[in-house]
Amino acid sequence: MDPSQLRPFNSYGAPEWLSRGYYADVEFRCRDCHEEHTWTAEAQKWYFEVAKGVVWGQASRCRTCAAVERARKAEARRVWAEGLAKKRARQGEEG
Ligand SMILES: [Zn+2]
Repeated sequence: MDPSQLRPFNSYGAPEWLSRGYYADVEFRCRDCHEEHTWTAEAQKWYFEVAKGVVWGQASRCRTCAAVERARKAEARRVWAEGLAKKRARQGEEG
């Protein structure tokens, strides 16, 4: 691991993996499909050092469910933006 690549955090204690000095595979249960998955050491390195995830972050969804969740959020944002645009247009007509 390369701690200099980590997102800065105020260090009131470090996460276990950081004081240990290396990443290790972590077993976790996906919160959506409730299946056991492995958050691999490799994936953690990417998450913390490349994606700059918060050092206290933990895996909560498997890859599949995370993709579904991302799509759901993107769609929600799109609908929200569309609604806002419509509202603005209406206000423009009235005003
Ligand atoms: Zn899942």
